[in-house]
Amino acid sequence: MLKAKKSLGQNFLIDVDILEKITNLTNIENKTVLEIGPGTGNLTSYILKKNPKKLFVIEKDNELANKLIDKFKDKLTVINDDVLKVDETNLFKEKVTVFGNLPYNISTEILSKWIINLKDFFWFDCLVFMFQKEVADRIIAEFNTSNYGRLSIICNWKLNIKKICDIKPFSFSPKPKIDSSLLIFHPKTNFIKINNPTNLEKVTRIFFNQRRKMLKKPYNQLFNGNQNILNKLKIDLNLRPQNLSIDTYYKLVCEYENLSS
Ligand code: SAM
Repeated sequence: MLKAKKSLGQNFLIDVDILEKITNLTNIENKTVLEIGPGTGNLTSYILKKNPKKLFVIEKDNELANKLIDKFKDKLTVINDDVLKVDETNLFKEKVTVFGNLPYNISTEILSKWIINLKDFFWFDCLVFMFQKEVADRIIAEFNTSNYGRLSIICNWKLNIKKICDIKPFSFSPKPKIDSSLLIFHPKTNFIKINNPTNLEKVTRIFFNQRRKMLKKPYNQLFNGNQNILNKLKIDLNLRPQNLSIDTYYKLVCEYENLSS
């Protein structure tokens, strides 16, 4: 019997109600679909039942990748690689729907990379992702709450995000120690334009470096005390990083880009 590898975050989804629920969230009939980390192919089977036009899967584990080829034959294309190394933007001829019961140790890395790498177009029309609940809570957190931070700001820049449900450990084998949450992401049609998204990473990193301290120090580090920007964006430097809305952060990044251009 196959031994799940902890290092690759292998907790396989075995709850048929959840598998059914995930694949009913969006219509994939005759569409191109990508699954990240298909593992033993549990979710894969449910995706295939919905008759997608084409299914790609990215699985890092060589042993599992070979088993998937044996099990599903030509019903899917197996990319035996690390999802963080695959250039997703050039892989597909049309917009794809992406599913993933993500390996928890790299779930935020995958999402941040994809968002930061987005060029002028979206290569996907919908992402249906499972995260550990604590991470999902940070992704969807509103400002003025303790979960709010860089992840909320980066993820909500170009995506609308909705929580579908929480999932208990007994839905997986082996059982993880933590609860999980299912989120669905759709591209936004309108978002604040940032020329170089790595500036979003930089500005939020500096602001949230010391999340309990006042805004004064990081603001001065980035904007050299510029009073005009403070007036324009109505920012009070006695507040804490979690007190600024996501839009204020995007506008701050634009101001930062203006100053550095
Ligand atoms: N989708 C399956 C399910 O729901 O039963 C398995 C999900 S399991 C939480 C995560 C899967 O991602 C594992 O199969 C693991 O081998 C794979 N994986 C881990 N790191 C990966 C990476 N960097 N790139 C691609 N796949 C990865």
